[in-house]
Amino acid sequence: MDAMTDEIATLRGRYAGGAAYLDGEFMPLAEAKIPVTHWGYRRSDVTYDVVGVRDGRFFRLDDHINRFRNSMTALHMEPPEGDAEIRDILMKLVLMADVRDAYVSMECLRASPAPGALRHPASCRSYLSCSAVPWISVVSPEMEVRGMHLMIPKVKRIPPSSFDPRVKNFHWGDLTEGMFEAKEAGADFAVLTDEAGNVTEGPGFNVFCIVNGRVITPARGGLDGITRLSVFELCEELGLPLEIRDVTVEEFVNADEIFACTTAGGIMPATRIDGRILGNDVPGPISMQLKETFWQKRAEGWHGTEIL
Ligand code: PLP
Repeated sequence: MDAMTDEIATLRGRYAGGAAYLDGEFMPLAEAKIPVTHWGYRRSDVTYDVVGVRDGRFFRLDDHINRFRNSMTALHMEPPEGDAEIRDILMKLVLMADVRDAYVSMECLRASPAPGALRHPASCRSYLSCSAVPWISVVSPEMEVRGMHLMIPKVKRIPPSSFDPRVKNFHWGDLTEGMFEAKEAGADFAVLTDEAGNVTEGPGFNVFCIVNGRVITPARGGLDGITRLSVFELCEELGLPLEIRDVTVEEFVNADEIFACTTAGGIMPATRIDGRILGNDVPGPISMQLKETFWQKRAEGWHGTEIL
């Protein structure tokens, strides 16, 4: 065995089912714990990213690491690990967890000020917490078949002027409240609007609507999702007209088709919104074309990075 193969053999399955890297050390996921005094916990002073692994291949790994780096920079965080090291850590975690389909998370959080230091975030070091666990999807098998049932809640998305939603974050107060409003209304998920009545995003996903064959997504107010970026590329490839602009709630709820998209679910067609039934209560044809092309291309290795 050469040195590389030797290392892989040692790593594989070491923490089967859930592996973590916390503050410089690898460990079983169950042992990964953060101090309750850290600002990552006390202030939700965290940024994160999630990359999917299907059939032993990361999807758009470098895009996720780049977005993670941009988020860390925006929050004035600088952990000791560089991008190449983060890439290596994520690879090792998937090998250690020994999963072919994985949900791989990278987080950077702020610790607490050292004793006697000024109680200011600039006095706190930041560190990484990463993990790999078996694949998690936000859509249930039932939702996959019947389509998602969505609703527009009363709660509004945090405005970009207060916190930039392109920085992936744990300030989920608005999204969590939206999930409770959705449950109350008998829907699966909420899609939040901004104060001006434009659609933004939902808890963990971006949204698109389709009107007269045009595929439309909000330009702002949400995360620049990597699955959303993949939809842009698919529209180009399939010759579907794409519009990235403000989308009013009226236009959205009256659209011909709606779909959501995220790492933890792919492209997810919706069949109901605020009780309105779209099409014949079955996922729409353009949404399905995008969904099927997405998974077919992923199976062929599109934007994939093999885990050896
Ligand atoms: N919007 C929010 C708030 C999210 O948390 C996520 C992903 O978790 C998304 C959108 C979708 O982004 P991506 O496609 O990069 O997973």
